[in-house]
Amino acid sequence: MSESAALSAAVQAGRWAAAACRAVRSAADPAALDKKDKSPVTVADFAAQALVCRAMAETFPDDPVVGEEDAAALRSGEQAKFASQVLDAVNVAGRHFDLPAATLDDVLNWIDRGGAEGGAGGRFWTVDPIDGTKGFLRGGQYAVAVALIENGVPVVGVLACPNLPLAGDTGALFAAERGAGATVRSLEPDSSPAAISASPQTDLAAARVCESVESGHTAHGAAAEIAEKLGVSAEPLRLDSQAKYAEVARGGAEIYLRLPTRPGYVERIWDHAAGVAVIEEAGGRVTDVDGRPLDFTHGRGLEKNRGVIATNGPLHDAVLEAAAAVLTPRR
Ligand code: AMP
Ligand code: MG
Repeated sequence: MSESAALSAAVQAGRWAAAACRAVRSAADPAALDKKDKSPVTVADFAAQALVCRAMAETFPDDPVVGEEDAAALRSGEQAKFASQVLDAVNVAGRHFDLPAATLDDVLNWIDRGGAEGGAGGRFWTVDPIDGTKGFLRGGQYAVAVALIENGVPVVGVLACPNLPLAGDTGALFAAERGAGATVRSLEPDSSPAAISASPQTDLAAARVCESVESGHTAHGAAAEIAEKLGVSAEPLRLDSQAKYAEVARGGAEIYLRLPTRPGYVERIWDHAAGVAVIEEAGGRVTDVDGRPLDFTHGRGLEKNRGVIATNGPLHDAVLEAAAAVLTPRR
């Protein structure tokens, strides 16, 4: 089946950005800056956002983009060396795809295309250039996440996961479009997509749970209690980034738990939109821990939601019930 222009653009964006991430990782120890929230951001985060926004600027120049990063730190002058490393990473990746060389101004302007706010109406893209930056830094899982949201619904989603194994290879790109199913392809040039589907498992005892590596991003203790209540016997699979959504979507796990670690944390739309598109098209289900659908109409945050539960589908209601018994009710 042929892909829509939107899906093709998102796949291209994911490929370009993944190439930049790999180039940075293979070069040396990737340098990291600390953001205001103390989370790390690397040369590759900026290079990847520049390349995703470049792809969108070429194909859909009028579409707003809600991106995780902005170029303020790179424009400050104090980070001139870091900014030139970002430019190098963009151009190294660009050469793989025969793109014309970019200037630093091009790169800063592409990154700052990601400053839109999102909201309830119309269409916009949302981009997490490196979801799971901590995984990226420690050589674990990370993902380039690109999604198109129309009237609050993620209608296209791409997750490029450069470190995820796929049929003896390393590097997988997951793609989905509303009504057209979900696929996986390798990150090798010209690879073709194969359909994926979530696991048909209905037996909780045989279910596999995945969760964040970082205990600051999900409550590991509460997850263990939920797993025990459900009679799940396997140890949880811990991996960074939306690779967790991808694993559930391709049948590598049945349950993804993201349980609030503190009241008041608002999940970011770019951490979920692509994952939701991929998992739902693979036959799975996603809600927050209270069973509400994820609500992408409130700007950059999932203001009306609390945590996330994603499953293969058949197990969803049982997981919600166990979560309700373990977690403190929403105030
Ligand atoms: P993961 O790799 O699944 O652990 O998630 C990485 C993402 O967690 C980052 O992109 C952050 O946006 C997000 N994050 C940061 N702090 C928190 C928190 N307290 N709870 C949930 N997610 C968080
Ligand atoms: Mg993220």
